[in-house]
Amino acid sequence: MTSPQDSTTDQAAKRVLLAAPRGYCAGVDRAVVTVEKALELYGPPVYVRKEIVHNKHVVTTLEKSGAIFVDETDQVPEGATVVFSAHGVAPVVHEEARALSLKTIDATCPLVTKVHREAVRFANDDYDILLIGHEGHEEVVGTSGEAPEHITLVDGPDDVANVTVRDPDKVVWLSQTTLSVDETMETVRRLRERFPSLQDPPSDDICYATQNRQLAVKQMAAECDLMIVVGSRNSSNSVRLVEVALEHGARGGHLVDYADEIDEAWLEGVSTVGVTSGASVPEVLVRGVLEFLAERGYADVRPVVAAEESLTFSLPNEIRRDLKAAGMSDKMTHDGSFASTSSLH
Ligand code: SF4
Repeated sequence: MTSPQDSTTDQAAKRVLLAAPRGYCAGVDRAVVTVEKALELYGPPVYVRKEIVHNKHVVTTLEKSGAIFVDETDQVPEGATVVFSAHGVAPVVHEEARALSLKTIDATCPLVTKVHREAVRFANDDYDILLIGHEGHEEVVGTSGEAPEHITLVDGPDDVANVTVRDPDKVVWLSQTTLSVDETMETVRRLRERFPSLQDPPSDDICYATQNRQLAVKQMAAECDLMIVVGSRNSSNSVRLVEVALEHGARGGHLVDYADEIDEAWLEGVSTVGVTSGASVPEVLVRGVLEFLAERGYADVRPVVAAEESLTFSLPNEIRRDLKAAGMSDKMTHDGSFASTSSLH
């Protein structure tokens, strides 16, 4: 039987380490606000090709406001407005949209566009480009589409042995923006063993947001009996956060979309719970997890700050132009009339 004193000790030992930075990155914020502004400006429906960002809550909230998510451009009615997601699209998708006379708004994250430009530049210089990324991920499909003749996908360290190139002295690696930094470096190490002249990208392709969220998790993982990462299963950077936590000493780790997915059994014998969220996750979902934990004695929340972030992007030019013409704000803020997912941050 637990004495009142034991119970007090037990409560005092329970704590939460809350990672910072976590949640929305600049590219996700821009993409979500783009859809919200498009709905406000043009009225529903606004079509969105693929999930605007990989988060269930964001997608269902926007659907309720009149966004229609489609898998392919030919599912959009002729002449309608379509937003391209933060993950980017191949040039062929722009061509398909032109053929259907669609009004397009490209919400591709500028940091993904940067990788597209690198791919085009190296392809023009006739390099073999080894693109490190996950097969089938939308970003990888989009980047590969910039130079399909020149790009070979390398899906992790174990895929290196399968790579063939035309000229081992003219090879460069690029990567998906949301990979594990450590695993990517291992892939590069193995690639360089095979191709010693392998060139690095001109600057990091794994974006600042992915790196910072992994850094925070690395700093706290060893102290955590359990790491809860808020994020969706198709969110690459969120899945990586669970892996990074386990690799750096967390005794357990789980990905949840919502607090009610937390299994009470995960908390048995747990003193320290780490909490973080992927780059496509609104803060309201993290608050839900913190409330769930507080109700179970984990009310002591301590931030672990690995980096400060202040980057913001302006909205895509196509929508800024139309917003200005309509006398509406083209800033990354809201006019106040719209129930936005961003207001849930
Ligand atoms: S995770 Fe990085 S690349 Fe992806 S949208 Fe966010 S900032 Fe852009």
